[in-house]
Amino acid sequence: MFIGHFGTAFAAKKIDSRPSLGTLMLAAQFIDLLWPVLLLLGIEKVAIDPGNTTVTPLDFYHYPISHSPLGVLGWGVLLGFVYYLVRKNWKGSLLLAALVLSHWVLDLVTHRPDLPLIPGMEVKVGFGLWNSLIGTLLVELAVFIGGVYLYMKMTRAKNGKGKYATWGLILFLVLVYSSNIFGAAPPSVEPIAYVGMLQWLLVLWGYWIDGNREVR
Ligand SMILES: [Zn+2]
Repeated sequence: MFIGHFGTAFAAKKIDSRPSLGTLMLAAQFIDLLWPVLLLLGIEKVAIDPGNTTVTPLDFYHYPISHSPLGVLGWGVLLGFVYYLVRKNWKGSLLLAALVLSHWVLDLVTHRPDLPLIPGMEVKVGFGLWNSLIGTLLVELAVFIGGVYLYMKMTRAKNGKGKYATWGLILFLVLVYSSNIFGAAPPSVEPIAYVGMLQWLLVLWGYWIDGNREVR
């Protein structure tokens, strides 16, 4: 899943409006922000395998640190704890931890059984929604559009930047998503990791948006 994770970040603003949209995006996408770093370090592995599922040509055959329940729990607690130290906001820190976990739950729905249940063991899970293009689009767009709707109801632009930066990000995510789904398979693993790293810029984009919007 890609765009759906951003949907949960947008939606989370409704639960606690204090964390910046950038922080919410950081949490919801945290394990996918970590993953390219681990790929480049050679700690986690992915292979290009067109047809692996209908939607993705990637075979996520080894990613226990970013995408096992234990790993995700650890990252969620860590992120929530750091946020609490900085902001002293319990509700927000629990929300961020829940967002980190939500990523794994949404991945569980979409991935084929490739998510390692326990690091080092061969038990892998995934409900395989990615085997259906229509199913994937329906679920993922529903989560994304629902999240955007809640965010727009919850906040308003303070100025032109707050308006256009938000719509710009939404449009950009939709474009990236369609090129992921309908574009050609990547030529090798390295570009996947480098493009994955660019997602950090989306987080900065979230902070920029948040600075130019206010709670209604
Ligand atoms: Zn993921």
